[in-house]
Amino acid sequence: MLVRDARWKESADIVILGYGGAGAVAAITAHDLGAEVLLVEKQAQDSHYTNTQMSAGNFICPNDVNGALRYMEAICRVEEGLTWTDRDTLHAWAEYTSQNIAWLEAMGGHIKPGPNGGEHRKVEGWESIGRAGIAGSGLGLHRLLTSNVARRGIRVLFDTPAQKLLTDSDGRVVGVRVAVGEGREAMDIKANRAVIMTLGGFEFDESMKLNYLRVFPTYFYGTTANTGDGHRMVMDMGADLWHMNCCSARLVAKFPDFPIAFSVEFSTKFAHHIDPADKSQVATGKSAGYVLVDRDGRRFTSENIKFHTLYYELALFDSHRLIYPRVPCHLIFDQARMDAGPIPSTKAGPAGPVQLYHWSKDNQAELERGWIVKGDTVDELADKIGVPAANLAETVRRYNIYCREGHDPEFNRHPSDLTPFSQPPFYALRLYPGGPNTQGGPRRNHRAQVLNVDGDPVRRLYAAGEFGSVYGMLYPAGGGNIAECIAFGRIAAENAVREEPMGA
Ligand SMILES: Cc1cc2nc3c(=O)[nH]c(=O)nc-3n(C[C@H](O)[C@H](O)[C@H](O)COP(=O)(O)OP(=O)(O)OC[C@H]3O[C@@H](n4cnc5c(N)ncnc54)[C@H](O)[C@@H]3O)c2cc1C
Repeated sequence: MLVRDARWKESADIVILGYGGAGAVAAITAHDLGAEVLLVEKQAQDSHYTNTQMSAGNFICPNDVNGALRYMEAICRVEEGLTWTDRDTLHAWAEYTSQNIAWLEAMGGHIKPGPNGGEHRKVEGWESIGRAGIAGSGLGLHRLLTSNVARRGIRVLFDTPAQKLLTDSDGRVVGVRVAVGEGREAMDIKANRAVIMTLGGFEFDESMKLNYLRVFPTYFYGTTANTGDGHRMVMDMGADLWHMNCCSARLVAKFPDFPIAFSVEFSTKFAHHIDPADKSQVATGKSAGYVLVDRDGRRFTSENIKFHTLYYELALFDSHRLIYPRVPCHLIFDQARMDAGPIPSTKAGPAGPVQLYHWSKDNQAELERGWIVKGDTVDELADKIGVPAANLAETVRRYNIYCREGHDPEFNRHPSDLTPFSQPPFYALRLYPGGPNTQGGPRRNHRAQVLNVDGDPVRRLYAAGEFGSVYGMLYPAGGGNIAECIAFGRIAAENAVREEPMGA
């Protein structure tokens, strides 16, 4: 939006939109490089929840920059001359993410090492993808970053949604229009050097998800504040978008009477994290019988899912029946799983440390709410969840045979995860495509500059975090998003502070 007579009410060298992980890292970095920084956050302070805060706090820190670059280039390559992400940007990613542990430690963070390795173990360089976690998971990371912001005296305007980018007649971004107060009056904030956008994804905008993601519905288990506001702001500026149909997701539970989805632990063995092709791995923990079934009551996967890739398997569309047969699908499980602890993750998401929902330890409250469905027989369960009873009975019968034989000829599920169904009753949980966050947003370069549709930088505009993340269809490994929040938060700030200041 071209500004001729802006009435600036606030100003700073660097104005950062969105106070999540990437915004905090950018703010700390810009401040430490001598810039005056202002953070602008949509949510009120007392109800401020970010994806960073709700996360598990795991992050990538490659142990070999060149190996990590080879891995990223391989997973981003589509065909000769066509890649999801350009080499320079991947190089910046590899170089900066490899400094993540050192940077967090310098901020006072306590790091928990490993497990190492990329998610795609057949791809060259996968072993270079070092991984780590932060003490206290996402909540710990949030506290670490916000305490560093506070210690530096960096100003934060809460309850102040950013709405429009403001430009001068040369197309330079010179500020931002925000909404303030109960009446949501417009207020203009001047950015003397640059604006850095770290506004998260479009996880809670149904229209954007319908138009950009591969399957609808797709549900998410992070902050409801991430509604694609920044995407609309940069589209208004002629920015190019990338990775809009990419989603490092899987299956989530979502109920009509609660706004946020839940990550689901199919089994307390965490068996769905292991590689079914790698028989040297062993699932550990409590055993329970469980299968995933589609709308026809049939299995469609090994259940040892690839955590950040399964999403694409769910987008299968039946052009004759005009349905997505895997949307929704169901987790069918037995009493042993019911007794083994909460069905959702308690390490992240709404039932995690932020406790936006208190999930009962024995799952009984959720059974009473109707979120979990119970059947005294397989037939009764099938009737209740609306799948063909004969198919579900046959699925359970065959699965129990595979368990006895220690071999799953249909989907090659890992033998150490083949636990038969125990005695009735049986249970079902309805699942949808979904996960932590979207990846798409403005295309950026290796300097974190937002690019326009001609490939040129939008002057004085930077982006970081999941708001146009560098990841394409394949996600490198758990920890990728927080890794890039830290890396590109720093890159954006380092380049933004070098911009020439506007005239007074
Ligand atoms: C449950 C869960 C677990 C996860 N676990 C991991 C993990 O272990 N490792 C990993 O790498 N990734 C994980 N992720 C993903 C990762 O946490 C996020 O992708 C990452 O933290 C995003 O950081 P961000 O700063 O880009 O966005 P956020 O942290 O979501 O911050 C965005 C901020 O922008 C604000 N905002 C939005 N619109 C406006 C507006 N108009 N004006 C001003 N402010 C606005 C929001 O209110 C929010 O404060 C997880 C995500 C979830 C939800």
